[in-house]
Amino acid sequence: MPKQIHRVAIVGGTHGNELTGVYLAKKFLANPELVGRSSFETTVLLANPEAIRLNRRYVDRDLNRCFGQADLDNGVAGYEYGLARGIAAELGPKDSPRVDVIFDLHSTTSNMGLSIMPSSYDGFNFQFAAYLMTLFPEVRICCGMQCNQDAPMLRSLSPLGCTIEVGAVAQGIVDADLMARTERIVMGGIGFCGGV
Ligand SMILES: [Zn+2]
Repeated sequence: MPKQIHRVAIVGGTHGNELTGVYLAKKFLANPELVGRSSFETTVLLANPEAIRLNRRYVDRDLNRCFGQADLDNGVAGYEYGLARGIAAELGPKDSPRVDVIFDLHSTTSNMGLSIMPSSYDGFNFQFAAYLMTLFPEVRICCGMQCNQDAPMLRSLSPLGCTIEVGAVAQGIVDADLMARTERIVMGGIGFCGGV
């Protein structure tokens, strides 16, 4: 039985040139009813606006490596470090996050298909993964050394949720089919958080 979820965050543009997530986040911002549910609040975020504007992965430093707790605490200078502190204030902190679940949308030039990287080994994430694989047998689950909240990735602000990584698609390019498949995974996540 999934736990009660009160707030979900969908994040695109953590890497500014990974347009699948950027376009999906913009679509959800323009059509909040797509991802809104009566049982929880949904926050949609474009994480790195300047990198998105420039169609670059980042400006000063990879934003998805700026969420280590020491870096968040130390007030390191730089555009992305500042962004990370702002996002952590909105979604975090790691030990008591304001959002229950984070889905961070990425794309890759690697042929990873539809992959999810859980934010931690919390049972919620694996129930979600199993649920997704019943809907979409092509989904792959990748758990590595960064499958915990010590990771410097944005997703580490909450133990629940995952990075959704799809590819192969060139940076700066929108692939309509991959975008539609990514959207179906996000909608699967929204359904799961609603206690399906
Ligand atoms: Zn990325």
